[in-house]
Amino acid sequence: MITTALTLFDTRLRKLSPITISNDQALRIYSCGPTVYRDAHVGNLRTFLLGDLIQRTLALDGVRCELIQNITDVGHMSEDLHEDKLLAESAVKKIDPFEIAREYEAHFHKDLALLAITSATHYPRASESIEIMQDLISRLIEQAHAYVGDDGSVYFDAQSFPSYGEISGNRLSELQPGHRYEYVDEGSKHFHADWALWKVAGDRTEMIWDSPWGPGFPGWHIECSAMLLTHLDGYVDLHLGGIDLRFPHHENERAQSNAATGREIVAHWVHGEHLLFEGRKMSKSAGNVVLVSDIIARGLDPLALRLCFIENRYRSQIDLTWDALIAADNTIKRWRMKLREWGPSKSTEAGSSIIDSLKAHLFNDLGTVDVAVELRRIERDGSIANEIKAEVFRTMDRVFALDLDRAEKLRSISAEQESLLQRRAAARASKDFALSDELRDQLLAQKIVVKDSAAGQSYEIIP
Ligand code: AMP
Ligand code: ZN
Repeated sequence: MITTALTLFDTRLRKLSPITISNDQALRIYSCGPTVYRDAHVGNLRTFLLGDLIQRTLALDGVRCELIQNITDVGHMSEDLHEDKLLAESAVKKIDPFEIAREYEAHFHKDLALLAITSATHYPRASESIEIMQDLISRLIEQAHAYVGDDGSVYFDAQSFPSYGEISGNRLSELQPGHRYEYVDEGSKHFHADWALWKVAGDRTEMIWDSPWGPGFPGWHIECSAMLLTHLDGYVDLHLGGIDLRFPHHENERAQSNAATGREIVAHWVHGEHLLFEGRKMSKSAGNVVLVSDIIARGLDPLALRLCFIENRYRSQIDLTWDALIAADNTIKRWRMKLREWGPSKSTEAGSSIIDSLKAHLFNDLGTVDVAVELRRIERDGSIANEIKAEVFRTMDRVFALDLDRAEKLRSISAEQESLLQRRAAARASKDFALSDELRDQLLAQKIVVKDSAAGQSYEIIP
């Protein structure tokens, strides 16, 4: 076993824990992936960034990771209507559910690329993992951890797993029957906290498969257990996901995986905190769901989103705002320009010692926020030579991945456009918002996006 220099907050152990590599080769990471019935919003992407930051940090020490992330394209039921999310979307759009899945899966990969998120080793799809799920369910039935209910569906027997609740603190004895943490229409369960591993098809005709228990479809939780046991060779050094997945998803996953194998299958459970937007939870009904495409449409670099995430610790809630995104966009542009000004890097003892102290922040529970603060200080510090600044920024950009060596294209605007910009800034300064909005729209029609921040007006040319 190799102990890496990285410590992270382990949700189950409730303390900072050193991350260890059990097979002496690569750190085995499992990260719960997207349900591909819609685009990932910026909150989802914050959670998906966590695995990338961990991999990039460990790479500074030459540690290799293997990351598996599932694509949920069947079995994830909506909490309110208890419908499969893919089938519900398919009914609304009148498009085949698998077509919807492939479309949003492609968007997911595109979003990851726009945020420079390292690809996983493999992205297994739930719909293509039915056999391994059925094998695992059969094993759980043989071991008396699961049973076939009167309705023909297969359920996990929660009481057969006494340590249920260690991750979230939700012990079986304290869970209330009827509490809406699992599908409430499961009348054939023996105990209220049991959950479905395989559901009989009933009236459902799409996305169903034959099984030893009749035609049906898998539950959501069994997918992750089957995939991590299969694709990570039976053991996980680090399991990631958003904080909302602690319960019931991760409790159920842990119960299934541990019960089937008779051992603690995941060494560390680490959760990313949620993101709010302009002070509110993002939701379709509130109309405040923000996508990467919305950020690009405002003329901002999608990596500005990455910097906003990095400027917070993964386990603190973020309240993201458009102002913060604009400020991050400006910071990235400034850093790119500075790096060009500073010129080539040079390895020096002074530079190495700065880099070591920044690395220490990263390895201490992913202190990206501390590194960002330090980088701003180093940027302004007149006593540090330019080639050292260049060395420090380039090394940290291996983790920050803000593409700081990208040469900002110098694009010119016409004299008329310059004058429009000046009139717009003046209108805004004199609080003539009607005129300032009108001028902003005129500029937008000419592919010039005007941005406002506390620092004043800036603009971006849409290529
Ligand atoms: P989903 O596609 O809904 O299954 O969610 C994918 C991932 O995004 C899960 O790990 C969730 O925990 C995470 N997630 C959902 N909402 C947020 C949010 N507002 N902020 C951060 N992560 C989130
Ligand atoms: Zn999962």
